[in-house]
Amino acid sequence: MSHFSIAEARALAVGPEVDLAAIDPASTPGISGSSKDIEKATAKIEDEVADLQELLYANKRAGNDPGNVLIVLQGMDTSGKGGAVKHTLAGLDPQGIHIASFGVPTEEEKSHDFLWRVEKALPEAGVVGIFDRSHYEDVLVHRVHQLSSAEEIERRYQAIVDFEQRLVESGTRIIKVMLHISKEFQKENLIERLENPEKHWKYNPGDVNERQLWDDYQTAYEIAIQRTTTDQAPWYVVPSDNKPYARMVVKYLLLDALRSMDLHWPEADFDVAAELERVRNS
Ligand code: ATP
Repeated sequence: MSHFSIAEARALAVGPEVDLAAIDPASTPGISGSSKDIEKATAKIEDEVADLQELLYANKRAGNDPGNVLIVLQGMDTSGKGGAVKHTLAGLDPQGIHIASFGVPTEEEKSHDFLWRVEKALPEAGVVGIFDRSHYEDVLVHRVHQLSSAEEIERRYQAIVDFEQRLVESGTRIIKVMLHISKEFQKENLIERLENPEKHWKYNPGDVNERQLWDDYQTAYEIAIQRTTTDQAPWYVVPSDNKPYARMVVKYLLLDALRSMDLHWPEADFDVAAELERVRNS
């Protein structure tokens, strides 16, 4: 089975009843797990994604307001967020992409509402933006470590839904992806990072402390997804123990968003025939 299409990627969208434990992180829905098949299915759409992104960026440059795309990546440590950023954006025009990572907030960020730093990091019109972690940390790590009160976390779920709804209404296609890995797979990844000196830079001893809270994080993810998955900004739970599979799915979701924008090449604001004549005679 090497055929994979946007329909299979869309099928990973989840509703408010989502049960994370019922989704096998090692599965590869819609395609065999063979790297050859996944590579083929990825290669099949690479040119189209690049062309559509150029079209999107061309509209921005022409002064149109073509809308934009925001990919929100969430997942446990070692779930492949960084790799997904790299592979999803590979081949795109760097001028038309915007990457934002969200770590522990600074003192200044903490003094504002949790969405303040997120608003500032939104992609402009015509740009494909990608968030490596996001405003969801404010209901995930905050819930697990009780960094905010239960009431405040309750408030945030709705604040997030309202915020994303506003973005959608102003022309943003939002793709929210949970890179869903198993606890065993995380262990393998952490060991690999320790055994390979070239991966030591990726290892953070603090990740092991968070790993001990695995079940609490799964619960926090499940509740956050249940509370914030909407028709306009659905969550996709992407099985991610097979990293190339997860990256492929993100690329298909980006293609879906770009296609839905119904983009056209901007019309020249000069007389093309006259300009051709001038260039030929120059
Ligand atoms: P990653 O683990 O994403 O590869 P990293 O290990 O390099 O990244 P940073 O990007 O500096 O670390 O920070 C990630 C950490 O910041 C995570 O532990 C995350 O839970 C935490 N974090 C992100 N947003 C918040 C927030 N709003 N409040 C508290 N902690 C947050």
